[in-house]
Amino acid sequence: MSNILVFIEGANSELKNSTKELLSVAKNSGGKVLAMALGPDAIALAEKAAHYGAEKTFISSDNQFENYNPDLFVTFVADIVKQSQANIVLGSSSSLGKDLFPRVAAKLESGCVSDCTGIEFSGDNVTVKKPIYAGKCTADVNFENSAVKFVLMRANQLKINEADSGLSTEVVEVTPPTTDLKTLIKNIVKSTSEKVDLTEANIIVAGGRGMKEAGHFKLLEELADVLGATVGASRAVCDAGWVPHSMQVGQTGKTVAPNLYIACGISGAIQHLAGMSSSKVIVAINNDPEAPIFQKSTYGIVGDLFDVVPKLTEEFKKVL
Ligand code: FAD
Repeated sequence: MSNILVFIEGANSELKNSTKELLSVAKNSGGKVLAMALGPDAIALAEKAAHYGAEKTFISSDNQFENYNPDLFVTFVADIVKQSQANIVLGSSSSLGKDLFPRVAAKLESGCVSDCTGIEFSGDNVTVKKPIYAGKCTADVNFENSAVKFVLMRANQLKINEADSGLSTEVVEVTPPTTDLKTLIKNIVKSTSEKVDLTEANIIVAGGRGMKEAGHFKLLEELADVLGATVGASRAVCDAGWVPHSMQVGQTGKTVAPNLYIACGISGAIQHLAGMSSSKVIVAINNDPEAPIFQKSTYGIVGDLFDVVPKLTEEFKKVL
């Protein structure tokens, strides 16, 4: 039976959905589910992780883990991986995960695969699916000669189990070593948006150059408000300064995989598709019937977005 260690990411003492997915898939595999939570709310996160099947959770509530700093995290996380005797480590393919785990894996002379969209366990082994060539193909990846297998999953790929509030976890408090830090994070300026981050969003309404100007993004915000969605954008409009780069979806932006992606006035360049083609349902609104985005769409609406989007908003308001 494999020991599967899940790295917990949370906010305000709540588990991120991506973490619930990891705990659920670990639990469903039949392996022993272990977890690791760092930061001031580690105990609260450990309790929540128990509800998804974490039997034992390694924590440090030390304030220094409030913000990610590779100097601080890498050695400590590697130590916990060793202490846990995990042979598989699951993390989210978030910016933190993608920075931290390749370093930890290198330290432990092990392999790490990021951006995975599927996972299958067999005994101590694991096979993962990873999109390659900007999403044009998907590779099945196995680990070889890797003592620990580090897998970083994209969000919204796995089913979340029902939480069982009757379950509890054994908490193991780990004391971090004193480290001479080379860098120190002084301050983090948080985004003022109340909306769910693009990478965690269940529904995304995204706009491209077809929006014509910055002010027209208001149309997308209105639709997003009705749907409980987050607004994203193509690089063309971020580069034009219409919206901030934090909203960019694609190869050089964020990789997203919501249940519903509504692309408005986006042509579907390969670099944009690379960031959103694993969305479950893709709806494209474009006035050019030949736009490449239609080849990737579940539903296509050929029309002027300035007619279509307000009508959708109006109709959704009636039913939601
Ligand atoms: P366009 O290609 O100009 O498409 C606009 C679309 O709007 C057209 O299809 C048009 O038919 C439609 N339209 C116009 N008016 C209307 C209307 N009234 N109603 C409905 N439809 C309308 N791009 C990304 O998005 N993300 C990335 O991460 C990214 N990374 C890149 C990395 C590299 C190295 C390079 C070279 C490029 C990258 N790009 C990226 C840019 C990418 O190649 C495209 O240029 C970009 O995605 C195009 O954005 P767009 O679809 O908004 O604009």
